[in-house]
Amino acid sequence: MDDGELIRFDKVTKCFGAHTVLDSLDFTVSAGRHVTLIGPSGSGKTTILRLLMTLTKPDEGTIRVGGRYLTHEERGGKLVPAGEKHVREVRKNIGMVFQQFNLFPNMRVMRNITEAPVQVLGLSRDEAEERARGLLDLVGLTSHADKYPSQLSGGQQQRVAIARALAMRPQVLLLDEVTSALDPELVTGVLDVLRDIARTTDITMLCVTHEMNFARDISDEVLMFDSGRVIESGPPQKMFTDPDHERTQQFLSAIL
Ligand code: ADP
Ligand code: MG
Repeated sequence: MDDGELIRFDKVTKCFGAHTVLDSLDFTVSAGRHVTLIGPSGSGKTTILRLLMTLTKPDEGTIRVGGRYLTHEERGGKLVPAGEKHVREVRKNIGMVFQQFNLFPNMRVMRNITEAPVQVLGLSRDEAEERARGLLDLVGLTSHADKYPSQLSGGQQQRVAIARALAMRPQVLLLDEVTSALDPELVTGVLDVLRDIARTTDITMLCVTHEMNFARDISDEVLMFDSGRVIESGPPQKMFTDPDHERTQQFLSAIL
């Protein structure tokens, strides 16, 4: 295993009923890299992120984060399904932002951001609020700390969701089409925040997006995904202008 490797999928298979969504998938992401997943709708991109977030489990294969198994643990030299505690421990390293924000509607912005650091990391409320204030400043929402999600625009809600994910200080940030549900005029503000995070932090990003200019700007590597496998990968300059695979060419010409 390469030292800088943060995420590793080994022969991961995931089926829904008779439908094999991920088919013995192998891929790795090195620490600090910004990787974008592209591919047709229904190709399994969200499933990959949900597996990493332990919102769903693989049928076969293993996933490692920072060298530790995500849904397995080693006991007596054998690999067995992981217990709750182990899963929680490894998952602390991973944050996710969803297409539909998924904020807690009954909590004010500040509480949305402090809840997990208090409950999961055991921070005091003061420590968590100090951390949250720094993040609200980063996402440009300092004056909105006491509002409820329903009082914010979609773009503002998504920036709160980004702050909430970062409040756990994860090593990896998973971004699943985070601007797809936004009105067009709100997209730029969210992407600018993410560009800023990509530029100023060493967080590893795994990103699903149809915003190709954004992907080109922030990505070190682009993975083209189809029929449950990575069919091609490379730097964005290559992938977006001169991909090898016909499938990638077709996909890009359909969306660009
Ligand atoms: P993408 O994000 O690339 O559009 P998804 O990972 O959301 O694709 O879905 C891949 C396939 O798995 C789709 O065919 C989808 O219908 C199916 N799928 C995803 N989640 C479920 C689920 N919970 N139950 C049944 N089928 C699912
Ligand atoms: Mg999806």
